Amino acid sequence: MSKIQVMSENLANKIAAGEVVERISSVVKELVENAIDAKSKTIIVDLVESGTKSITVIDDGIGMDEVDAKKAFIRHATSKLLKEDDLFFINTLGFRGEALPSIASVSKVDMRTSLKNGVGTHLHIEGGNLVIEEKSDAREGTRIEVADLFFNTPARLKYLKSDATELSNVTTFIEKLALSHPDISFTLTNNGKRIVFTSGSDELLKTIHEIYGYSVSSNMIEIKAMNDDYDVFGYICKPSILKSNRNHMTTIVNGRCVKNIEVNKAINDGYFTFKPDIKYPVVVLKIETDPTLIDVNIHPTKQDIKFSKIETLNKLITETIGEALRKALLVPKVEIKVPETMYNEIAIPMVHEEEEPFNQSEQVHLDFREIRDYETAKKQVKEESNPEIEENEQIKKLELYPVGVVMGTYIIAQNEESMFMIDQHAAQERINYERVLHAFATDRICKTSLLLPITIELTSSEFMRIKENMAILEELGFLVEEFGVNTYLVKEHPTWLREGLETESTKKIFEIIIEGKYLFDKLKFQDHIAATMACKMSVKGNEAISLTQAEKILDDLVLCDNPYNCPHGRPTIISFTRYELEKMFKRVMN
Ligand code: ZN
Ligand code: ZN
Repeated sequence: MSKIQVMSENLANKIAAGEVVERISSVVKELVENAIDAKSKTIIVDLVESGTKSITVIDDGIGMDEVDAKKAFIRHATSKLLKEDDLFFINTLGFRGEALPSIASVSKVDMRTSLKNGVGTHLHIEGGNLVIEEKSDAREGTRIEVADLFFNTPARLKYLKSDATELSNVTTFIEKLALSHPDISFTLTNNGKRIVFTSGSDELLKTIHEIYGYSVSSNMIEIKAMNDDYDVFGYICKPSILKSNRNHMTTIVNGRCVKNIEVNKAINDGYFTFKPDIKYPVVVLKIETDPTLIDVNIHPTKQDIKFSKIETLNKLITETIGEALRKALLVPKVEIKVPETMYNEIAIPMVHEEEEPFNQSEQVHLDFREIRDYETAKKQVKEESNPEIEENEQIKKLELYPVGVVMGTYIIAQNEESMFMIDQHAAQERINYERVLHAFATDRICKTSLLLPITIELTSSEFMRIKENMAILEELGFLVEEFGVNTYLVKEHPTWLREGLETESTKKIFEIIIEGKYLFDKLKFQDHIAATMACKMSVKGNEAISLTQAEKILDDLVLCDNPYNCPHGRPTIISFTRYELEKMFKRVMN
């Protein structure tokens, strides 16, 4: 019984436009997806000269009988799509039946395939003409080789990109496919050299490890969440291992890898303040949903899809990631040092709940130093009570000892293993940012009365804006009174404003409220205020500081929840291990 049916002309016309063979990766995609559809557990892709000479795909799938094998090279044949309606569901990896005949028409294709107990079939096609058809050995599965792509269409040959570009596209494709199918073992080689290998363990984290290595897999955080329509599961990286492009954000919807700008944006939003805009995380996100909630037909190659209820999905993704990051960076934890990672991790216990409530009648100034000492004390207690941690010699806390300040901006520091450069502004910004957020998180706001109130004159529309949002100012710890035409008097302000900068800072907060950004999202608003104020009150670049001041910055920085980024996501610390330095000076060779 033949598995392949010829599909309707109508459907063929509908999809013909999309299936164009133009890249090495589009040939690999076609061949490998066929192998997946054949229920293969092991798929090997061997390239010669990045695939420009030949592309071979070997699988252990169910194979084809002679009839199906020949039909696979006839236009408009497909084993997957039987009726037009099927196009609207994504339960299949997509349709094909167009690409293989197209590929065979512009290359030399050699295929050996066999069912479990059948006789094997060997076909050889050159430029679309069947030149060999014979019986072959009966190894179950399919081996297909596409050689000399575009040998008979030299004009198209020159459109292939450089070997390196084609190879990198194929590699990215195989990696994403491996991540969407952890149960299948993938191998990719070029000129005999292995580039990708996954074991098919059916464990996503192990597959991530096999693709990205230990430095990434040991810094991944598992996430899991659901709402009425979507189930989300996967792994996100800590901010210490960000990448400079989006290629490492993988979204898998109902088992199929897709590119979707909105989902990528939701992922990035989850990293809000944990990374700079120009850096991207390593994320593998699996989304499961009812197939009727997605439309696969918006992109000819089926790489993008359209979600119904995208807002609820995005909200779920952003919140889950943000929460996971905050939790992972707050929970007391000591990390094993990994040679490849740029940064060390540090243990910070949470103390907020246990803090004594502040006495309202007193003017209490929240001093970060005190919190720090308290945290240090608590941390010691915690570590002493954990024998396991003491036993493990590899465990390291982040320690930074100042050496000096260069270019008036960068603190040079060291510890036993590493040398560090710290951006003095970014570091203090992070410290102040967390201090202000701490202040927001405590129940009672500490306020200072001003002997001389701050006068703020505004235009009438600005005046109205402030009036509408008076509750927000009060919540922040300001006591504001109207005073004549379009003028306010500020009589009390929260203590976290830095001394000497009260007027300037208060005016800035008024500005932020007038601007109206994040006003309807309390957490984002507080974050924005904290980040903006932290920037204002921190030592600038090119501003001379003493070694004692530098030491204080480092002491405070290592106690931050996330010492590695400023609130805008830029790095605060750049580190070089002894090994990395030795490598740079060629004291060691690899
Ligand atoms: Zn700044
Ligand atoms: Zn910053």
